[in-house]
Amino acid sequence: MNNCCARGLVLCVSEHGESDKIVTFYSPELGKATGIAKGAKRSKKRFVNKLEEFSLLRILYNPPKRDGLHFLREAELEDAFLSLRNTYPRYVAATFIGELILRFTREHDPDPNIFSLLLWGVQSLEKGRDPLETCALFHLRILGAAGYQPVLDCCGFCGETVRAGQNYGLHTGGALACGKCRGTIQGGSTAITVQTLRFLHHAQRVELVNLERLRLSHKNIEESLEILHKYTLHLLQHEIHSWQQIKALQNSSK
Ligand SMILES: [Zn+2]
Repeated sequence: MNNCCARGLVLCVSEHGESDKIVTFYSPELGKATGIAKGAKRSKKRFVNKLEEFSLLRILYNPPKRDGLHFLREAELEDAFLSLRNTYPRYVAATFIGELILRFTREHDPDPNIFSLLLWGVQSLEKGRDPLETCALFHLRILGAAGYQPVLDCCGFCGETVRAGQNYGLHTGGALACGKCRGTIQGGSTAITVQTLRFLHHAQRVELVNLERLRLSHKNIEESLEILHKYTLHLLQHEIHSWQQIKALQNSSK
């Protein structure tokens, strides 16, 4: 038996057959990984109350023979982050964060920085940070961590540095456009204020521990979520499913 151990945060769980569960998690050792927990629905000891969304686990497993599923032998609960499942706005935010991780990471490609960012996200929600603010900052940082850092300090068309008094928009092609360029380029753009741009540009560069101290206004959060969503839509050419719930949360918090 080839016993291995890894930490992992559960991203999604589905039932498989009568007694098994399929679990997808993100791990600093394995990256995004999927495993099967045989008999998980019956097991009182090995898995009960552990294989739940957003739980942080220490997992004993056997690696897959080829590209198949990891065989999960046992899990130990490090943190359940229970409030993420019991509080609706936190649940929506955690689901959004989980979906971004699923979309922007690959299997067999572990990145400890992405794991730290994910942990920062769920811990922030658990500690009661504004769910929408957490989503905006997480979205910004996962783009950078995954190698898709948006350029937010200069116009992507003429190269001019962002400055006060100008108006800006994120072009449908993913680049920032200054007021002059917005008038001449093809395709629409989503308006964004200089204040939000400066804030995001700063938030791209601070250490993860210092992200804790940044606070956004409601308007900054709304604008940030909107342009990051547009940017990601352009990158993935695919909608983020939980975006509609994020929008609904935004509307209900107005
Ligand atoms: Zn320009």
